[in-house]
Amino acid sequence: MELIEGIVLKQMNYKESSKIIYVYTSHGLVSVLVHGSNKLKSPYLNLVRIFSHVKLYVSGSELKTLRDGEVLNYHSDISLDIVKYTYSLHLMEVIYYFSQHEHDHEKLFQFILKIIDKIIENPIFDIYIMMAELKLLYLLGVQPLLKHCVFCDSKEGLNFSVEDGGMICSEHRTKSRYNSATMHLLLSLYYYDLSDPIELDYDQQDVVELRRLIDEYYEYHLNYRSRSRKSLRDLIGY
Ligand SMILES: [Zn+2]
Repeated sequence: MELIEGIVLKQMNYKESSKIIYVYTSHGLVSVLVHGSNKLKSPYLNLVRIFSHVKLYVSGSELKTLRDGEVLNYHSDISLDIVKYTYSLHLMEVIYYFSQHEHDHEKLFQFILKIIDKIIENPIFDIYIMMAELKLLYLLGVQPLLKHCVFCDSKEGLNFSVEDGGMICSEHRTKSRYNSATMHLLLSLYYYDLSDPIELDYDQQDVVELRRLIDEYYEYHLNYRSRSRKSLRDLIGY
């Protein structure tokens, strides 16, 4: 028997009454078969829910089987708000998709636990999700170059270019696409330290622009867009 602790990112029905859950842990993704979890009397109804922080006793090698387990935190408040729920699902999908990549899972796991708390605590939660997506770029090794121009050492009038993978100085670029407040929000979130929080100053328009920038970056450099992202667009309009 083996003890694992993690966040349920995804669940899938398996045969008539069972489920497979995909749990993100400090070592990466673990798939666990939960027998009979679709039965009404199952003690594991909450344990298989997405966002649940769980502690599981499992056995088996490739596909593990649940022997016993408990929910440390349901995080059920996320489901109370459809936008928050859909946006958080998007984040879970992103983490799931990149969980097979070699990266620092311990770091991401600890970070995601904190981000989930922020999502639950704050009515304005979208910046925390974008923060997680930006920091994941770093873990995946495809982080944008932000300190100076991609083509030279200049820091003059830096503006972002998705295709070039970072900032472009005023001499090297042909046109500015983002305003300076959006650039400021990008930098603030990318370098944000959750253990040393600072006040963020931004407009909703900057959030919209940064959302687009992150979407384009993931599509261009990682060829990825989550399924929930489309549902989210239908809900929030961008
Ligand atoms: Zn330059």
